[in-house]
Amino acid sequence: MHMTLRLLDHEMNVERDSAVCGQCPAKVRPQCKVRHIMPVHYVDVQPFYPSRLKRIHHSAESKGVGTHQGRGYLNFTLAGCRHLSEFCLIHDPQLHWVNHFSIMRSLSLYLDQPGGTFSMVEEDLPAPGPGEILMRTRRVSICQSDVVIQRVGLPRIKSWPALILHEVSATVEAVGRGVTRFAPGDLVGVGCDIPCGDRKCIYCGDEGTGDWTSCPNTQATGHEFPGFARTHAMLPDWFVDLGPIVKFPEGFNPDHACQLEPLACCLEGMTRVNRCIEHRVVVLIGAGSQSTYALQCAQAMGARKIILVNRGAERLERVLRDFGGDDGRVVGVRWDENVVERVFAHCQPFNEPHFVMMNAPCREGYELSVRLLGYGTVLDAHAGVKGAGGKPRIAHEVDLNNDIHYKLQCLQATHGSSMHGIGLAQELLVAGKLPKLGLMTNATERFRPTELMQAIERAADKDSLKVILDFDAS
Ligand SMILES: [Zn+2]
Ligand SMILES: [Zn+2]
Repeated sequence: MHMTLRLLDHEMNVERDSAVCGQCPAKVRPQCKVRHIMPVHYVDVQPFYPSRLKRIHHSAESKGVGTHQGRGYLNFTLAGCRHLSEFCLIHDPQLHWVNHFSIMRSLSLYLDQPGGTFSMVEEDLPAPGPGEILMRTRRVSICQSDVVIQRVGLPRIKSWPALILHEVSATVEAVGRGVTRFAPGDLVGVGCDIPCGDRKCIYCGDEGTGDWTSCPNTQATGHEFPGFARTHAMLPDWFVDLGPIVKFPEGFNPDHACQLEPLACCLEGMTRVNRCIEHRVVVLIGAGSQSTYALQCAQAMGARKIILVNRGAERLERVLRDFGGDDGRVVGVRWDENVVERVFAHCQPFNEPHFVMMNAPCREGYELSVRLLGYGTVLDAHAGVKGAGGKPRIAHEVDLNNDIHYKLQCLQATHGSSMHGIGLAQELLVAGKLPKLGLMTNATERFRPTELMQAIERAADKDSLKVILDFDAS
């Protein structure tokens, strides 16, 4: 007997007494030996070389294998395969039914403690249960919050060792019963802020507002929910049903799909108040990844002028060079003693900006942002300030009559992302409205999963924009 199967997308050449994984490079794992094989009624599938298990059913039917009586199953335990540790084939010709279950072997990189190191742990994942999906990680991008978590931890992470990282794209490997919106092979992107899991919750439930971050039991991937520093992950039914998970078209770049979440956070802040970007003047304080996303989104949304303010020269120069364009719509301003006058000068013919996005997580950023408020300005207090001493009070006096009523100023903020931002990010990505996104990650910003520590160090560099871990390169 010989047949070629694809089990959870991994090719297995199955013989009477052995199974050879078609995916493991020979030099790493030459062979995946079958330890035992237990046919109850031996099913002869010799004439068929189906590329997918599902097709065995149809070919078995059409070739008349159904005349075999009884039900056969083959049980394999694999040693040394890095994809599967166990699988079982069940064939019931009378019921015209072929099924399989398999145990997926996942490699997870656990951070042992704040300031600690990562160690690789092998974990077995069963086939997905009803409503669940099993994903295979493709790319993970590093958030500045991951840098902080690696160095000093986070109160929200209560149990260590921990799985961090939350910006992920993945391929669906298998879906449980009842899952209709996703199928094996789909490329998906996932958000960070997730529902609390209570289907009756007024924020996160089936009839909720969708403002997950307002829920007292709010949770996030890479925080309370295990992150994606691992080759495979199982998503529970409420995650699959309520989001945040979206599908990308076939052939879509997984490098871009993993940036769904940081883009969604950015777009939440830019769209909570209507009509403040299109044809208007946008100021971005800070030139890190959130400002670089905001710059590209503002370009896509038709901003009239985009003024990027930054203290350091390295990032400012990189962002202006790669994302500035040559139509004069994007200008850079160094953050020095003349910064306010220079920003106002660039706003002409308007006197002040329409939208100020504060992306520098420091007190000085807020102090600068309120000096830029003018007629009709919306301030997005996008970056929170917190340190070892907690969250400091940063006060600013507001004249409700003159500033808010007569000048139409608006002070607002968003936290993380909901399906609103996830949907907008997916739309911009799929429509190709962010054509320069790939420039946020250069050759020095790509790493293998086993180089996670170096990747985090690179993400902390002053000139770095978006570091990506490529799980396909493992
Ligand atoms: Zn993030
Ligand atoms: Zn909730």
